[in-house]
Amino acid sequence: MEMERVHNFNPGPAALPREVLEQAQRELLSYDRSGMSVMEISHRSAAFEAIIGEARDSLKELMNIPDNYRILFVQGGASTQFAAVPLNLFSKNGKADYVVSGNFAQKAKEQAERYGLVNVAASSKDKNFSYIPALDRAKFTPDADFFHITLNNTVYGTRFTSLPETGDIPIVADASSCILSEACDVSRFGLIYAGAQKNIGPSGVTIVIVREDLVGHALACAPVMLDYKTYVESDSLYNTPPTFAIYMSLLVFRRLKALGGVSAIQKINEEKAAYLYNFIDNSKIFTGTAERKDRSIMNVTFVLPSKELDAKFVREATAAGLVGLKGHKAAGGMRASIYNAVEFESVKALVEFMKKFELENGGAL
Ligand SMILES: *Cc1c(COP(=O)(O)O)cnc(C)c1O
Repeated sequence: MEMERVHNFNPGPAALPREVLEQAQRELLSYDRSGMSVMEISHRSAAFEAIIGEARDSLKELMNIPDNYRILFVQGGASTQFAAVPLNLFSKNGKADYVVSGNFAQKAKEQAERYGLVNVAASSKDKNFSYIPALDRAKFTPDADFFHITLNNTVYGTRFTSLPETGDIPIVADASSCILSEACDVSRFGLIYAGAQKNIGPSGVTIVIVREDLVGHALACAPVMLDYKTYVESDSLYNTPPTFAIYMSLLVFRRLKALGGVSAIQKINEEKAAYLYNFIDNSKIFTGTAERKDRSIMNVTFVLPSKELDAKFVREATAAGLVGLKGHKAAGGMRASIYNAVEFESVKALVEFMKKFELENGGAL
């Protein structure tokens, strides 16, 4: 019997591809005829070294990562990177610029302030982060050690569509909710980090892609587990890594390669987002909350005319098998997270449900 699955719009942890879950299920009791689960084998075994090696090579291929970058598998989520980034990169002048474009950007900035001098180069707090602020070079710090942005703002449904011109100052990006969703020129960045649980795999592993010249200059107070050099020198095997999460990420990378890579998934992602935004833009009762030019293709945020209707929508959608649509408490309303693993079919089901909801509830307005 086919196991019933819902349409999963969870913001993270989020949907995983069905085929990946099925493969993990098939291999759960005995990985590669070992008689053991991946969770039960040593991280020093040849089998696990093959898994982490292929995961690294696959990500390098998928993102076209240049040879002078290192791919690290770390723990602690993006939130730990909020501290690791300044601890590693405040190596010259102890100064950095941050664009505060959402709650996670704000948290990242607050961690950096513990270790150095932080300038807010731009902020969109004035309109509850519903847009990406314009960047004015005159407000940049000329001798900053790095410039931090949040590429996709998960809670508010906005994304950067162009990168700041920072000259020689490395751009550091939190790509937690958009990594592998669209083409990205890694050479434009000094460092990219992302928790896996939105667009890659389960929670527990965090990806760091760092230009090699930025490694090896951590502040003396940096814990060994937050020093990128520790991971570079040990191939991310200094201590026990999150083995099962890395294995699941590898299965996702393999599937994405089989689908045709990032350019293929980007096309599907753009189509999914356009289909949903097009419905919202032509609806009489649903309104998008992010400024059009800055809209995310991963997290689509929208509201109904009242909080009561928002709650009714989320309740009835959940009952209809469309889950995870309640907006973050800081933003309110609704949010449909349509990451790589969310099929077009789920977006169509959502739009059908929204049409029906509009017919049933629009008349009263
Ligand atoms: C989810 C998210 C985070 C927090 O990630 P954790 O792995 O839970 O620490 C940070 N930044 C962005 C952009 C996110 O989407």
